[in-house]
Amino acid sequence: MHNFTLYNPVKVLFGKGQIKELTNLITKGKKILLTYGGGSIKENGVYQQVISALDGYEIIEFAGIEANPEFNTLMKAVEVCKNKKIDLILAVGGGSIIDGTKFIAAAANYAGDPWEIMTKPDATINSAIPFGTVLTLPATGSEMNCGAVISRRENGDKLAFMNPLVFPQFSILDPETTYTLPKRQLQNGIVDPFIHVAEQYLTTDLNTPIQDGMAETVLKTLIKVGKDIVNGTKDYDTRASWMWAATNALNGFIGVGVDHDWATHMIGHELTAAYGLDHAQTLAIIAPKLWRHQMENKSAKLLKFAHNVWGLENSHDEIAIKQSIILTEEFFASLDIKLSLKEYDISPDYDKITKNLFKYSQTPLGERRNLDEKAVKEILQMAH
Ligand code: NAP
Ligand code: FE
Repeated sequence: MHNFTLYNPVKVLFGKGQIKELTNLITKGKKILLTYGGGSIKENGVYQQVISALDGYEIIEFAGIEANPEFNTLMKAVEVCKNKKIDLILAVGGGSIIDGTKFIAAAANYAGDPWEIMTKPDATINSAIPFGTVLTLPATGSEMNCGAVISRRENGDKLAFMNPLVFPQFSILDPETTYTLPKRQLQNGIVDPFIHVAEQYLTTDLNTPIQDGMAETVLKTLIKVGKDIVNGTKDYDTRASWMWAATNALNGFIGVGVDHDWATHMIGHELTAAYGLDHAQTLAIIAPKLWRHQMENKSAKLLKFAHNVWGLENSHDEIAIKQSIILTEEFFASLDIKLSLKEYDISPDYDKITKNLFKYSQTPLGERRNLDEKAVKEILQMAH
């Protein structure tokens, strides 16, 4: 196991009716910027719950943060923060709203050109506006981590940044807010956390039973609830298990002391930027191909995956590994999730995608830093 520091200061309030606790979480007199998306929170009553919980507070609204939050939109919110001297931001929505809010919070206090936050690994963020979240879409884990993914469509970029100053102060997770999610977002909400776990678990075997056991439990939970969730179950406990699984997939705990991959995410971001596929749709296509491409390097952990997640203890090792990848694809397919670019009528421009991927950093991808332009092209070809 590698040495590690674990730091996660996010206060989580989980369960039915927790939105009304906002009044105990935010000091009276604070000037709040309420950030949200295209209006789903107005249709499902979450907006009304937030507004009544914050009766008597000064709230300025910033709506219209889009899926795959856009730099130019977020910069408008940065102006509002500066002009109105916002004390706290409250993000209400899915990963895009929370990620966008993290960028707004950091950019509002940033001395230089805020796009540097995304493009320069040595960009110094000295402070950020404090913020909290009300999560309405279990998927990204953004509610309990300090990462964010921001797009700049004019450049064809979708880039990530991480900084401990953009951990939410608090996150409210009420499984009942998820009842109105459409099928496509329910599908995304199973795949994204599944692959978050895989990016940390299907790497090198460093003899880490606690992290591995937690990772396997999250995967098994997603497999167990997947079908019911995508079919729109209103069973509270199923929704609650799903929501907490998605948070645990990327709140840091399973990722301590282990090697991280993230190549599926990096390649997936390029596919979203180039073709507009949802984040999770790209992951379902790329991950199984990447595991096949890297089967030898990942064999020890793939074997644990085969044994402990898919129950393939009785098969010959190589067969079990191959079967575990097939079973994962069958699981995604059973949720009506597509497994190739062809199914979306996309014939990728391999050169363009690969060039863009290595535009800001030439370091090869993967836990072994062995996936260079050539390897990425091979994986994309397998994904077609
Ligand atoms: P999202 O983009 O936040 O939301 C997708 C759609 O779901 C939006 O149209 C939204 O509508 C709708 N929606 C949200 N909650 C709803 C509800 N309860 N009922 C009905 N509709 C609802 O989706 P996401 O998958 O959570 O976030 C994806 C983004 O997160 C991508 O940019 C991805 O790259 C990033 N990401 C971040 C991390 C991280 O650690 N920070 C990890 C993985 C991925 P409204 O616009 O009306 O709200
Ligand atoms: Fe993700």
